[in-house]
Amino acid sequence: SNYTPSSSRYENTAGWFRRCGRSGLHLPAISIGCWHNFGDPGTDAARHTDEASLHENARQMLFASFDNGITHFDLANNYGPSPGAAETRVGRILKDDFAGYRDELIISTKAGYRMWPGPYGEWGSRKYLLASLDASLKRLQLDYVDIFYSHRPDPNTPLEETMGALDSAVRSGKALYAAISSYSAEQTKLALAVCEANGFIKPILHQPSYSLLNRWIENGLTDVCGDRGIGLIAFCPLAQGLLTNKYLTGTIPDDSRAKQPSGFLQESAVTPETVAKLNRLNAIAADRGQSLAQMSLSWVLRDSRMTSALIGASRPEQIVENVKAAEKTKFAADEIAAIEEALK
Ligand code: NDP
Repeated sequence: SNYTPSSSRYENTAGWFRRCGRSGLHLPAISIGCWHNFGDPGTDAARHTDEASLHENARQMLFASFDNGITHFDLANNYGPSPGAAETRVGRILKDDFAGYRDELIISTKAGYRMWPGPYGEWGSRKYLLASLDASLKRLQLDYVDIFYSHRPDPNTPLEETMGALDSAVRSGKALYAAISSYSAEQTKLALAVCEANGFIKPILHQPSYSLLNRWIENGLTDVCGDRGIGLIAFCPLAQGLLTNKYLTGTIPDDSRAKQPSGFLQESAVTPETVAKLNRLNAIAADRGQSLAQMSLSWVLRDSRMTSALIGASRPEQIVENVKAAEKTKFAADEIAAIEEALK
């Protein structure tokens, strides 16, 4: 490897690492996710059509992350496309470029969505979760992940079974911590009760969606996690790029996620009403001396119960811009009021 991490990566990090609930684990205020732009050539937003240039961009994004204090890389079994490709790529980068730094990194993965055909290829059975974790470890070329998630609640599997599988994952040493994603406030309470009743190792972290444009966790989940000492890490804190300067003119750039055929953000999300909101928010951000992306991340982090904002990126420069959000997570009451007004 020709990568030497920045020697100043832990300088000026006061307030940057946040305790995850009441656990012993700290996460960086900004974490990086590999859902998009780490898959097969031609499937990323910047259209790296050959393997070598896509791989180089992926490396540079992880280097920019680590150099700027982002010690947490988030994955899932199915990230790609093709499913599994992101874990394979990140595994290769960890081996080639981050050898010697495993103990400075928090690597997470998940199982819950469709990964292989048949009844054991998705949801929350013990059969699926533990087989998937083994397959993830192979792709990542790791002995263990730091965090293993149940990626979504399964209405048809007893919670005892799903939580029991997470407990087994941790007791086997294949994961250090258990976590859940997209469980409702009620499902989260039930999951914790099941762990207590059975003596299972409890999840320490919850990964819900959350942004200025998606406020569902304010209706109970944040309180449940805060009261129970579970950390929160917000996915899609930039609403997949809407909360950046990218769509402010209402036109959709060629090198954006909305233009990506395999992306999850549809062009139809860029409505005139949304564009008007984004411009009102952008004006408030400018008054704070921030970009819209930075203010949106600062806002997600304004509540200390939110341990981390889990961003995606298509270029290293976006990561460098976004980490600065952690320097300004306080909002005056009139700024909060102006934001609520802008969102109406
Ligand atoms: P974001 O809301 O942070 O969107 C990221 C996208 O926004 C980037 O890919 C880029 O898009 C754009 N962007 C970011 N920064 C800037 C900037 N400074 N200026 C301009 N554009 C910018 O998050 P994601 O939707 O990527 O999700 C983040 C992570 O959350 C995932 O990687 C995954 O780890 C996790 N996740 C978890 C889920 C779950 O079920 N648990 C579901 C979804 C995500 P562009 O390509 O347009 O440049």
